[in-house]
Amino acid sequence: MRHIAVIGSGPAGYYTAEAAQKRWGDDARIDVFDMLPVPYGLIRTGVAPDHQSIKGVSRRYEKVALSENVSFVGNVKVGQHVTIPELQQFYDAIVIATGAPHDRKLGIAGEELGNIFGSAAFVGWYNGHPDFAALDPDLSGKHAVVIGMGNVALDVARILAKTEEEFGGADIVAHALDRLRKSKLQKITILGRRGPHQIMMTPKELGELAALDRASPRVDKADLPDEAEDALLEPGLRKSVTHLRSFAAIPKAIHAEKPIEIEIDFFASPVAFKGHDGSVTHINVERTTVEAGRASGTGEFYDVPADLVVSCIGYHSAHIPDVPFDERAGRFANDEGRILPGIYCVGWARRGPSGTIGTNRPDGYGVVDKIEEDMASGALGRADKRGRTGFDELASARGLDIVTFRDWKKIEEAEEAAARAGAPREKFVDIAAMIRAAN
Ligand code: NAP
Repeated sequence: MRHIAVIGSGPAGYYTAEAAQKRWGDDARIDVFDMLPVPYGLIRTGVAPDHQSIKGVSRRYEKVALSENVSFVGNVKVGQHVTIPELQQFYDAIVIATGAPHDRKLGIAGEELGNIFGSAAFVGWYNGHPDFAALDPDLSGKHAVVIGMGNVALDVARILAKTEEEFGGADIVAHALDRLRKSKLQKITILGRRGPHQIMMTPKELGELAALDRASPRVDKADLPDEAEDALLEPGLRKSVTHLRSFAAIPKAIHAEKPIEIEIDFFASPVAFKGHDGSVTHINVERTTVEAGRASGTGEFYDVPADLVVSCIGYHSAHIPDVPFDERAGRFANDEGRILPGIYCVGWARRGPSGTIGTNRPDGYGVVDKIEEDMASGALGRADKRGRTGFDELASARGLDIVTFRDWKKIEEAEEAAARAGAPREKFVDIAAMIRAAN
């Protein structure tokens, strides 16, 4: 019997559990740990609350979680409640699937001013992540700026723009819906340091901006390259750029019907934040030009009004003591998923924060190949580790309050019972409430 510990119960974690189960069947036991009492990581706290069809993938993970040789071990912080060397005493292989939970910083002056948030924090706030439930963003100003031209920037801009009715079937948490209901925002600027041909936004997500009840997207025609140049783009990006062209052609009469403007401002690189009384009021940006995909400053600076800023420029992984980390890349130091024989990583912890949910699937299957190679070469040592039995003894000696998958189902039931009309669930946003529901 081989004992595998997967740290992190998001997509990368459950695809790894699925792959291990398929490869070794009853010859392996897989324990999926999570620091929260609830599973599914980014599916629960990252994927936008109004994108329920994407969240539906958790049903696939549930099937894995419910199989005989896979267990969920929630409410355990690896590196704090239990160390990696301790887990190595019990498990043949440890697979780190902890994602990239921390915001990258812009590193510009004024970043410490109030009402400036990174997207991990802001998305966590509207998605009910316990670490960010108390974020308390102020939406009483007129102008929000979203920095970055990726899908997270689109999520944030769309959530800020939607009406309460547009959240009909969404699992946005009550505190966020309440705050958004009272929002006074009139303009959302999406700020990108490069041009229309360098956006990271996918067509379906970008197209959604044109279908909002009270907001319409605006693109300055002058920012768009010659249309003939679109032919050189890969098909997905070409489709996205076609959306930008259609936004630039939206007639004034349509804009006039919608009280919120979503301005997509290209060639604008943030230089510094300016504020008043400790809160942000403006972003100073430098105009850029883009040559061969690279932006360079033109020396022309201007201020963009900003009562709220959400910086959506990417993430980095969190260190775990005793595990080698690549500081420059912001993820675990690894060679195709192998950190050391016996310690592996998958998903964003391995590759950095890019790719869709499905990108994690081959990662999970690939790491199982690596584990198998290391088993065959003898690098993992003898197969007589105690797995869960050993871990449970340690956990009970430490008084850890482990949440099982059965406990999670009770939390889920309570969240479903608390849902407002039309919504799939009302999430608990603090750990104590989750534990109470589990008990
Ligand atoms: P992303 O796609 O890498 O986009 C990051 C954006 O931030 C880029 O436009 C980048 O511009 C910009 N940026 C980085 N550093 C900057 C700086 N110093 N100043 C100004 N701009 C800066 O990352 P993401 O939006 O966080 O998304 C992460 C991953 O999750 C992506 O693979 C995304 O597709 C995926 N995701 C998918 C969905 C969905 O499918 N519905 C939803 C959310 C996220 P440059 O290109 O110039 O560096």
